Amino acid sequence: MRTSPEGRASRQGPLPMQEESRLDARALGDARRARLIEWTSISLGAFAIAAMIALHVAGLTEPRRLAGTLALLIGSAAAWLACRAGRVALGGQVLVWCSLAAITVVAYATGGFRSPATNGYLTVVAVAGWLLGMRFMIATTALSLAIMGALFVLGQFGLLPPPAPSHPLVLFSTAAIALALGGLLFYYVVREMQFSLEKEQALHEGLRRANDELEQKVAERTHELSDAKEAAERANRAKGAFLANMSHEIRTPLHAILGLTELVQRESSDVRARARLALVSQASDHLLTLINNVLDVSKIESGKFELAEAELRVGEVFERVMTMLQDEASRKGLQLRGELDIDASRRVLGDATRLTQVLLNFAANAVKFTPSGSVVLRCRALDGDLFRFEVQDSGIGVAPADQARIFESFEQADDAPTRNQPGSGLGLAINRHLVRAMGGEVGLESAPGEGSLFWFTVKLPPAPALVAARTAATEVDAAQAEAMLRGVLAGSRLLVVDDNEVNRIVARAQLDAVGIAADDASDGVQAVEMAARTAYDLILMDVHMPKLDGVEATRRIRQLDGYRDTPIIALTADAFDIDRRRFLDAGMSDHVAKPLQAGPLYRVLAQWLSVAPRSVRARA
Ligand code: ADP
Repeated sequence: MRTSPEGRASRQGPLPMQEESRLDARALGDARRARLIEWTSISLGAFAIAAMIALHVAGLTEPRRLAGTLALLIGSAAAWLACRAGRVALGGQVLVWCSLAAITVVAYATGGFRSPATNGYLTVVAVAGWLLGMRFMIATTALSLAIMGALFVLGQFGLLPPPAPSHPLVLFSTAAIALALGGLLFYYVVREMQFSLEKEQALHEGLRRANDELEQKVAERTHELSDAKEAAERANRAKGAFLANMSHEIRTPLHAILGLTELVQRESSDVRARARLALVSQASDHLLTLINNVLDVSKIESGKFELAEAELRVGEVFERVMTMLQDEASRKGLQLRGELDIDASRRVLGDATRLTQVLLNFAANAVKFTPSGSVVLRCRALDGDLFRFEVQDSGIGVAPADQARIFESFEQADDAPTRNQPGSGLGLAINRHLVRAMGGEVGLESAPGEGSLFWFTVKLPPAPALVAARTAATEVDAAQAEAMLRGVLAGSRLLVVDDNEVNRIVARAQLDAVGIAADDASDGVQAVEMAARTAYDLILMDVHMPKLDGVEATRRIRQLDGYRDTPIIALTADAFDIDRRRFLDAGMSDHVAKPLQAGPLYRVLAQWLSVAPRSVRARA
């Protein structure tokens, strides 16, 4: 079945612009051609009638002449009718073929090849080209030449009938036809040129329109795209805000659970109760790790992830991780070994917390997935500030098919519902991101049943010579910090500001446990008033509070006499890096994320109290 261009267009959607403009130009040509053929038919018909009258007047009513003019008259009428019926090309062809027939009949009757009527072939050729195009002109030329050749041959063999008697009217009409022919050809050439010019203009116009439409469409799409991008960014921001909120909401009660469990555990002498509280602590720790992991992934996905840069000693990070895993390894009967192949005192610049997190995650996995045997941690320096860490275990190993997969978020090698190790499948994905952010790579060599070797490299440039007091203080471990608080730092006066009563109780109890006295305030206004009355050595400041929030309260306290350098530590459940910067900008000295356990709290206090100027008023 044939399909019209319109049919095709409607089935396949709108026509392409160029195609449309080409059709425009063709339609323009068709209308013109129809008009031309109509008018030529009328003119030739009129000519045939005039010729018949002229022949009659001249007494040349020889039947062959009359047959020729009659053929022209009938042909013109048929062509005109075809045109009116919308068959333009057919009309043109009828016109040309009947003219050819008429000329042939007249030429045959009036002298064959030498007949003046043979000029008429040229007229037909010109008309054919004009009305029906170049291909048709070539065809009529060939046919006319063939007919003239045939007339010549017939003439040579004397097969033509005797020529009709000639007449001056015939000579005159022949001259007129030759003249008209020249004019017609000239007109044809000019019209053709004009026509192709118009066609080109129509094409250009179509192209310009198409171009305009295209540009408009591109502008619309760009607009839509930027709207979509903005919507996506808004959604991302909303997601970030939601996560920050959820993190805040979850951390706050967790803070109370962890803090109070730890305190009751310390104070309780009932062995059974202590064992059960240890389980509560363990479960809360696990929950906290989970929240931290989810938060890390969300930070990474929303592009809010940033690394801190401070001085650190790689050896210390290494030792800290070893210490943290020692208990669990001993409990499982595993041999935990460290092979540190660098200068332990080498100071570098990097993010100690994140480096610890990565190494701890690999090492904790090794302990978790090794039922018996050993876990070895290694560290050595490579060229160009690079350090290579390795964690080798003799555990269950990872099948080759799972080796690439486990570095993706939420992927676990053994995802059967019966898997016996807890985990979220986020640790390795976070590790890979952190390691890449630190300019390194991660990798794994493993075989099922033969253990695994997880390795990673990180770039840690050498630290500048200056050692900040703060860095030195950070190096104090929890036990040393507790000793410092009980010893040289005893008698320090602290203010705990938090609108949540349980949090205040927990913080005060934690401080009380190391002999540090603390007052408390339940909002920013009260905190500013208390700070104006009493000189505190350090303030632990919650951020989200009614009346006056922690950030604004800090600004006001900083303006009070003697509080320019007093440590004010943001104690908050907001854990995004961006918040940390906001707190520091407001004049806070540091930021500690809830839930804060006693150990880390003592370390922060020892660090800041040991470098903070003891208040003059406090001594007074
Ligand atoms: P999870 O919280 O589940 O441990 P990770 O991303 O840390 O998440 O690890 C993903 C998976 O990789 C684990 O569930 C485990 O199947 C596999 N895996 C990680 N470390 C080891 C290892 N040392 N030995 C064997 N399998 C491991």
